[in-house]
Amino acid sequence: MPVVRREIAPERHRSSLLVIDPRSMHCPVCKEGTSLEPAPLEEGKLAAWRCSTCNGHWIRNADFWRWRAQVGHNTPETPVTEPPARTAPEAAGLRLCPDCHHVLGRYKVGHGIGFTVDRCRNCDGAWLDGGEWEALRVRNLHDDLPRIFDDEWQRAVKREVQEQTTEENFRRRLGDADYQRAQELRTWLDAHPKRSELFAYLQLKHRRD
Ligand SMILES: [Zn+2]
Ligand SMILES: [Zn+2]
Repeated sequence: MPVVRREIAPERHRSSLLVIDPRSMHCPVCKEGTSLEPAPLEEGKLAAWRCSTCNGHWIRNADFWRWRAQVGHNTPETPVTEPPARTAPEAAGLRLCPDCHHVLGRYKVGHGIGFTVDRCRNCDGAWLDGGEWEALRVRNLHDDLPRIFDDEWQRAVKREVQEQTTEENFRRRLGDADYQRAQELRTWLDAHPKRSELFAYLQLKHRRD
């Protein structure tokens, strides 16, 4: 809501350490309401708050952008090699923003990463479960954090999930061996300069059968 956003706006740009008494900031995951402690990331350059019980991190939007301005560039995404390690299981249940107590929304990262990251839709702060920042970092997606919450990013993730589902359906219907051969054929065709002619020929042969 625009009114709420105007009220919260000045707070978002103040220095992280001055805004709120850390004793009043509670972990969105741990039920006992464990207090968050200042625990900067990125060699102390990125102000963040950590829960010592679940090892999750809270990063305020203004602090993220302050750090990004210091870094000065966005590192290109590293392609998937193997699934990144996670150190904490994804806990279910409602999570509340440590700063403004609004409900946190969950956002799929996609790009071969299986977990979701949480964001407060009111103050734009981000919550990362234990190990998630490191897992994003391995792929250089950590400096894209606010983009993950964009509609455009989320639409692309949805497409990615749909494509994976379609591929998985074909793999089941064709069987592993034929699916593998079809994939090789597709890769060969896609890269071929006479791709259209080859397609036409394959269909011609098919019609004659
Ligand atoms: Zn916790
Ligand atoms: Zn918030």
